[in-house]
Amino acid sequence: MAHAAGGFSAWLRAMRSSLAGGPGMQVACGECVGCCTSSYVIKIRPHERDALAHIPAAFLEPGERGGTWYMPANPQGLCPMYSGSAAHDAGCSIYAHRPETCRTYDCRIFAAAGMPAGEGKTMINERIASWRFEYEDDTARREHQAVTAAANYLRQHPVRFPNGKVPSRASDIAVLALKSYTVFMSEPPDDGLAAASIIAACREFDSRAAQRA
Ligand code: SF4
Repeated sequence: MAHAAGGFSAWLRAMRSSLAGGPGMQVACGECVGCCTSSYVIKIRPHERDALAHIPAAFLEPGERGGTWYMPANPQGLCPMYSGSAAHDAGCSIYAHRPETCRTYDCRIFAAAGMPAGEGKTMINERIASWRFEYEDDTARREHQAVTAAANYLRQHPVRFPNGKVPSRASDIAVLALKSYTVFMSEPPDDGLAAASIIAACREFDSRAAQRA
C-alpha cells in the first residue's frame, strides 16, 4: 500500500530545519512501529531531563560524553519502552516524554535518499518502499534526484573521503545527503571534487545550525 509523503520541497525544507535543531517532524506513522522494533539504540542528550526521568536507569547506558545516555534495544530488537501495541503513539509507553531521537526520526529520509534503512529492519524498509512524494514543480523533482545522487556518491565512493571513511549507518548517510544535496543540483561535479564539496556543504550546514542554537 502506498503512503503519501507530501510535497518533496516542503518536506526537504522542514527536514533540514529539524536537522538544524528546529521542530521535530510530523510523520503519519499510523500502524507502523518499525522504529521502535528495529534494534535501534536511542541516544538521549544531557538536556533531555524529562525523557531521562521517565526511563528506568536499568535501560540506560552512559555515553562517551558526560551526560549523554544510550538506550539499547532488547535482544528481540524492541525498545524497552515499547508496549507491544500496534499503534505508534500507544506503542510507546512514554510517548509524551519520548527522547528527541524519536521525535525527529522520519523514515522518509531513506525514501528521499533512495536507500533502505538497513538489513533486518523489515518493517521500516516496507514503509520506506511505500512512501510516495509529490513534486511541487520541476525544482522539487531535481532536489529529490540530487539527494539520491548525494547518497549514492557517499555509498559508492568512500575512498574519496578522508581516511576512506563515510558513516556505516544508513541513517547517517541519508542525513549527510540531505545536508549536501545542493552539490548535485546542477552539473554533476568532477568526480575528484565531489567528496570535498560534500564535506564543505555538510560543514556549512552544521556551522549555520550551531549559530542558530
Ligand atoms: S522511546 Fe518510545 S518512540 Fe522511542 S523507540 Fe522507544 S518506544 Fe519508540
